[in-house]
Amino acid sequence: MTTTHASRVLAWYDRHRRTLPWRAPAGERPDPYIVWLSEIMLQQTTVATVGDYFHRFIARWPTVEALAAAPIDDVLSAWAGLGYYARARNLHTCARVVAEQHGGRFPEDETGLRALPGIGRYTAAAIAAIAFDRPASAVDGNVERVISRLFAIEMPLPDAKPEIAERAAGLVPQKRAGDYAQALMDLGATVCTPRNPRCMLCPIADACRARKRGIAEQLPARLPKQQKPTRRGLAFVLARRDGAILLRKRPAKGLLGGMDEVPSSAWREGTFAADSALAEAPVPARWQILDGIVRHTFTHFHLELTVARATAATDVPAALAPGTAWCTVDRMTERALPTVMRKVIAHALKE
Ligand code: SF4
Repeated sequence: MTTTHASRVLAWYDRHRRTLPWRAPAGERPDPYIVWLSEIMLQQTTVATVGDYFHRFIARWPTVEALAAAPIDDVLSAWAGLGYYARARNLHTCARVVAEQHGGRFPEDETGLRALPGIGRYTAAAIAAIAFDRPASAVDGNVERVISRLFAIEMPLPDAKPEIAERAAGLVPQKRAGDYAQALMDLGATVCTPRNPRCMLCPIADACRARKRGIAEQLPARLPKQQKPTRRGLAFVLARRDGAILLRKRPAKGLLGGMDEVPSSAWREGTFAADSALAEAPVPARWQILDGIVRHTFTHFHLELTVARATAATDVPAALAPGTAWCTVDRMTERALPTVMRKVIAHALKE
């Protein structure tokens, strides 16, 4: 793409840019903290989902120093529902590094940004471009689509990534690089959509090779997805007579690290019998196995949880084991409960 094309993309952006909660108004300098926070939240998550979380975070922790000073459990519970919880932990660690080692200021270039926890190649480029107007090439899924179509790159993803990255980097203008990065993202999100791209409205249509060849909708090509395995387990919802439910904290490292959960049996692939899994209950009780299954999909596997429910004896202690605690239903929102556990509790309470 020549400078002419970059200026067409920018002119289009000036007229059609999306209004997003984290986006600075035209002509205003963005706050790097806000750019960083939104980019971390948007990894693997949609713009629509992130909106409320973003507002809550900014209201509660308006600066990187405020976020750095927050207890990790508060950050995890505010993040609960966004998924990929390692990101929340990295978010908090990164805030502390920026506050304590960089005087509260984010580095301005990609190398400095990539040295921070939780910031990979894409995020570093996006922050460098959007927050600091550096001519960095930020290739997210939307941009990947635009570039693969513009150059009719037929090699499937992920093998095509290096070529897409190289092509994209060659297009970045020296001026208004931040607006250009956001313009390509917006173009992919609103015009060069996965299905039915609106080529009639596209500012770079005359340069687009996929459009000319009539293959736009088939790109980017992808290798067939590998089947995910399914793991199964039995979740134990133990309720006190006042309605409080027993929760425990997961280990800090690994899947859903440091989040709260109801106790459950191990999650295993292969044959599963809820009756046998009762042997893994946290306490002996009159467990009732409920009808229905709670399903959830993680990055690498599907999970199917059967739910067992029981009422605790009246004289149960405040904690049944280290790391466990009782939580009343009206205080659940304060806990770092991942979506799958919210589904389990809702399932147990609806019957
Ligand atoms: Fe996408 Fe169509 Fe524009 Fe090509 S012309 S970049 S396919 S919207």
